[in-house]
Amino acid sequence: MPTVGWDRSGGTILGDDAAGRRGAASAREASQSMSHIRLRVCLKSALLLVMATGLSAAFAQSRSTRAGSIVVFAPHPDDEVIGCAGIIMQALARGERVKVVAITSGDGFPAAAAGVAHKPVDQVRPDDFLELSRFRQVQSRTALGILGGKTEDLIVLGYPDGDLGNLYDSTDDKVIRQQFTKKNETYALIQKDYHTSLHGRPAAYQRSSVLGDLVELLTTLQPTEIYVTDETDGHIDHRAAFWFVRDAAKQVGYKGAFYTYLVHGLPAWPFPAGVTPSLPFESRTVDGEVAPRGLPWPPPRRVPLTPEQSQRKLKSIQAHNIPVVGMPEHQSEMESFVKSEEVFWTPLASSR
Ligand SMILES: [Zn+2]
Repeated sequence: MPTVGWDRSGGTILGDDAAGRRGAASAREASQSMSHIRLRVCLKSALLLVMATGLSAAFAQSRSTRAGSIVVFAPHPDDEVIGCAGIIMQALARGERVKVVAITSGDGFPAAAAGVAHKPVDQVRPDDFLELSRFRQVQSRTALGILGGKTEDLIVLGYPDGDLGNLYDSTDDKVIRQQFTKKNETYALIQKDYHTSLHGRPAAYQRSSVLGDLVELLTTLQPTEIYVTDETDGHIDHRAAFWFVRDAAKQVGYKGAFYTYLVHGLPAWPFPAGVTPSLPFESRTVDGEVAPRGLPWPPPRRVPLTPEQSQRKLKSIQAHNIPVVGMPEHQSEMESFVKSEEVFWTPLASSR
């Protein structure tokens, strides 16, 4: 992964705060450069003024031709298509820029590791979990291709599956070792993990590393829309993904749209069950409790999918199938997210 920014043709969209920081950084670099060649102070000031004027013009132009730039955060490979396949394909069809950020590699799932390694589950070893991570990253690439995305649109952070909650709660910033892979730093096998690609070395499994990578990504990509799993999700990795991305967004002064999607809704989700491309999502009462728990219904944003888009969403979910594992219930649950729409919440805009 040579770069993580948008390609040049799309331009860079900067918020006011970020534009100021970027302008200041450019000015500092220019200042240092000129001091080396001993230009007079007045010439230095004049040049900085010209640079600032040029940057302002560039930003003004980028605002006037503003196109969407979307970042979908997936706690595990597959969440991105379960929640956002329609958003991804619609944005790409409009010529907008999309990045999918896999926070973990889904490498903490013994049954799946056993399936990939063709072993009984009690005989899987750390290498089998590493192979599982490769398998799942390849599936993410395939799924993204089905939606119209490119290989370089997938960013792999390589944090530990099952430990995002522990990392978020680790206020002493201790390094965590994942119990299955035995890894204590980021890695990826199909491409370099994000931190290694940018800094030449992996990041330790620490709270500050996750936050640091996310802050850096948001600063670089400057998205206009962020999607991440909802805080009410039943899976701790999904909740922690929300907390990390929310905190990173606050830290960079993010001013774009912030949407959440729901995967493991409680007490059950989604409704109706099964592949129902002509039906919208529904709220249901389960054992006297309204599902999905803790979220307003109807959801604040509903994005219709055409029948063709729903079919492509189904194909992208099936690209994440792990047939060697033989978990039909899991597959059927994933496919139940094929509806006539996708639904999103706006937790930072509401008071819940
Ligand atoms: Zn997940």
